[in-house]
Amino acid sequence: MTAFRDIIGQEQAKGHVRSVLATGRMTHAALITGETGMGKKMFAKTWAQAILCEDRQMVFGFPEPCGKCRSCVMAEAGTHPEIRILTHEKAGYGVGEIRDQLVNDAALKPMISDYRIYIIPEAEKLNIPCQNALLKTLEEPPSYVVIMLLASNAGTLLPTILSRVIELPMRPVSDEDIVQLLMKEEKVADYHARECAALAEGNVGRAIRYAGDADFRSRPERVIRLLSDINDTATPDIMEAVRDILIPRGDDDSPAKKKRNLKDAGTDELLSFLAILRTVVRDIMVYKAGAPEKLVFKKHEEYYEKSAAMTWPQLFEKTALIDEAEDYLSSNVNTELAIEMLMLGMRTNQ
Ligand SMILES: [Zn+2]
Repeated sequence: MTAFRDIIGQEQAKGHVRSVLATGRMTHAALITGETGMGKKMFAKTWAQAILCEDRQMVFGFPEPCGKCRSCVMAEAGTHPEIRILTHEKAGYGVGEIRDQLVNDAALKPMISDYRIYIIPEAEKLNIPCQNALLKTLEEPPSYVVIMLLASNAGTLLPTILSRVIELPMRPVSDEDIVQLLMKEEKVADYHARECAALAEGNVGRAIRYAGDADFRSRPERVIRLLSDINDTATPDIMEAVRDILIPRGDDDSPAKKKRNLKDAGTDELLSFLAILRTVVRDIMVYKAGAPEKLVFKKHEEYYEKSAAMTWPQLFEKTALIDEAEDYLSSNVNTELAIEMLMLGMRTNQ
């Protein structure tokens, strides 16, 4: 069952949808933005289902899809003929794919509903020719067409595209809302829900993934163990420990393990590692400030007690190093080098 009441946060985007559905003045082109895991696709699918529902219901003042009508049943099964989710075969969309799946297709009226919805995932992968092909439909959309572009980064879209869409950004959700969701929907214990929420940094999809991932659950502890000994650990051993945390070893004896490169861990894993470090430094500050009840990683007071000897400037510097590493990683530098510099900066004897 898909419904807006299941989407936590996102009040701005939901407010837009509410007024569109209430007034019937349809938005013909929307750009839903937010990083992976922020719920762009879930939002788009729910909106599409609500547009096409034959028996929309007001629930807590919000127009929700009924979940029971013929249209809702097909939408939830992913078989609704008027909900088209565009696909691409290569690394990005091809002009032919945009023409076939959208431009030419949009000329034909919907068969069983008043509207047809086109959802374009990964809109950042529309190159300029694709965007130009799309532009014509965006400029004069048939009255029955609704186009929803989903993008983690709107920077690659032409100003002419941006000027014709309504942008609905998926915003970070509060830790408290994520904790409630994880406890209720994922049946996660209170302290673990708090850890996941802190590390997900407002990203619901990421929090849910962390909550269900046993390997991930052990990571904060492994990171703290590494940090405890980091002054006396040689650089290659530090790097190997980080690789152990982020890249699962298949077979311990396999020669492939020697070639493990942190770049292969993927952006999401690297960001989660930085989030753990950031949370540990924040915990040290919290401990130092005399508020141990606010620690995220509660089981490690012994470590925090030792680390509280760090000065405030040292702690701020470590936070700055983590932010810097995040910038480096998003700008495609040498991942191993960026992490190595970061980890050496985590040493306390400087
Ligand atoms: Zn319905």
